[in-house]
Amino acid sequence: MLPWQDATWTGLADASRLPHALLFCGPPGIGKRQFAERLSIRLVCERESACGACRACRLASGGNHPDILVLRREEGKTEIPVDEARALNEFLALTPHLAPRRVVLIADADHLNRSASNALLKTLEEPPASSYLLLVSDSPARLLPTIRSRCQRIVLPRPTTEEGRAYLEERGIPDASALLALTHGAALQAEAWPRDTPAMTARLIASLEAVASGVESALDATETWQAVDLDVGLTLLIEIAAGLAQWALAGATGRAWPGEWTARLRVLAGRLDLGQIFRLWDEALEARGLATAPLDRRLVWDRLFMLVEARV
Ligand SMILES: [Zn+2]
Repeated sequence: MLPWQDATWTGLADASRLPHALLFCGPPGIGKRQFAERLSIRLVCERESACGACRACRLASGGNHPDILVLRREEGKTEIPVDEARALNEFLALTPHLAPRRVVLIADADHLNRSASNALLKTLEEPPASSYLLLVSDSPARLLPTIRSRCQRIVLPRPTTEEGRAYLEERGIPDASALLALTHGAALQAEAWPRDTPAMTARLIASLEAVASGVESALDATETWQAVDLDVGLTLLIEIAAGLAQWALAGATGRAWPGEWTARLRVLAGRLDLGQIFRLWDEALEARGLATAPLDRRLVWDRLFMLVEARV
């Protein structure tokens, strides 16, 4: 149980009063899926509490409860296809095996494709008795409005900085503050990121400084960064560009970056004009949005570093 979800958990109604469709939203990496999983267990638990001790809870925790179905986007796929949504409808139409009800959890609901969304809509319009649908979404705006309107929305909170830091420290993760600054406090995302992310961020700031001050060419920096996972590298660059924009506009970083980074961002922001900073931010966002397309890493980095290259 994630401590920052306590209040939401205790505020949930009993199964008899809970709506048949719930939509859990909030930023990525704060534990929405974990919350929905725990609720799915509570809905089948013999004591209706996710007690952890009864047979239903044991089956469900192992992913083996016959009345729970979990749908998620397969690794490497961009969509949840219609076949899976149809399987969900069939699953919910059947009588429960063990529990008093059946539960479907859709872990990446915003990735349902158009036909899958329409298939799901049929079930939402006439939910079978004793069925529950739990949808989890990072970006509910991408769901069909007709799906959104049929679900009760539950916005899960981010952990506070203290809760996030305690969570990471309990798991022995170093540089908790830096990771939380980079992930905007999304503790589970911070946990999932590579351990060398803070060091990598410092190196990326250093590369940008070197290029912006003419010590290195864009090509030199590209040589270094083309070996890094593009999605990770771009995500860090986006955070750095956001930090630079805040410095340039407001003279503050707007969040708790580690002290040394703050100082270096300030220097770097001073070397660039606002147009460069925003182009860097925009282009990094755009490149990351295309991440499922096969991009040439060298080209992407070269283009980005050229934006900050010192003009001689
Ligand atoms: Zn139980």
